[in-house]
Amino acid sequence: MAEQHIPTAADVGSMYDQSTDLLAEVMGGNIHLGYWRNGDDDASVEEATDALTDMVADRLALSPGLRVLDIGCGSGKPAVQVAGTRRVHVTGITISAQQAELAGARPEVGDGAGQVAFRQADGMDLPFADGHFDRVYAIESFLHMSDRAKAIAEAARVLRPGGTLVAANPYQQGELDARAAEVVAANRRLFQIPPLGDADDYVAHMDKAGLEVVEVLDIGENVRRSHDLAALAIRRTKETFDDAFSEELSEAADIIERFGDLPQVGYGIIVARRP
Ligand code: SAH
Repeated sequence: MAEQHIPTAADVGSMYDQSTDLLAEVMGGNIHLGYWRNGDDDASVEEATDALTDMVADRLALSPGLRVLDIGCGSGKPAVQVAGTRRVHVTGITISAQQAELAGARPEVGDGAGQVAFRQADGMDLPFADGHFDRVYAIESFLHMSDRAKAIAEAARVLRPGGTLVAANPYQQGELDARAAEVVAANRRLFQIPPLGDADDYVAHMDKAGLEVVEVLDIGENVRRSHDLAALAIRRTKETFDDAFSEELSEAADIIERFGDLPQVGYGIIVARRP
């Protein structure tokens, strides 16, 4: 029986404190999967991860000057892209102190449209007033949160009536056999992830938070290439580290590759509106 690892927010923060530089390097500056239109799409990892950010932004129905929250902002690259291309103001929060510092050092930090702000905060307990934001998005962050219902309720709380929430996450689709369960458990330990949940779980949390789900877009096959490319890049960079760390990276690359091959791992962009 695979053990059920449930990370705390602090576990997730320290994992990202240690791994953000490496993950951002292998994922084109972002820390999320890439989107490729089809098998012939020869976009680079950076182009593909930026394309996924754009897909999220497209669904936010943004207009210049809106106030946007990025839950789990990573390196800050997605927030800078969204703010710059849509002329909105994006506030990014992250549980990782290292990420808050890294993102906070970006030249785009400021108060106006097209600018960004970052701070360390817990998505399960947001330090913002009810209805403070016009739009909220979360790219691969709800995934890590042990109380996903609370995290989504918090996102709904800080969203103003009429506002939109967009969430992008890997999720489980279908039953895991013993081998798949082992690979998923290893990946969850590596990246500090509670049980994955499926699309219906996310939709149920949004319903319960009083949101109306308007779209569930399954892009599992469009993002699948990301895992192999990340594993490849990690194997390439591991040469620059000492033997013990290099061995750890090699194991990590194997886990990422096997996780990405599982048909039971899907990926969705879910769009919900606060009535
Ligand atoms: N959205 C970014 C980063 C994704 S990595 C991108 O797409 O590039 C996952 C992010 O979720 C990290 O920034 C991590 O700090 C954040 N995260 C995970 N759990 C969190 C929590 N409880 N509160 C706030 N942020 C959290």
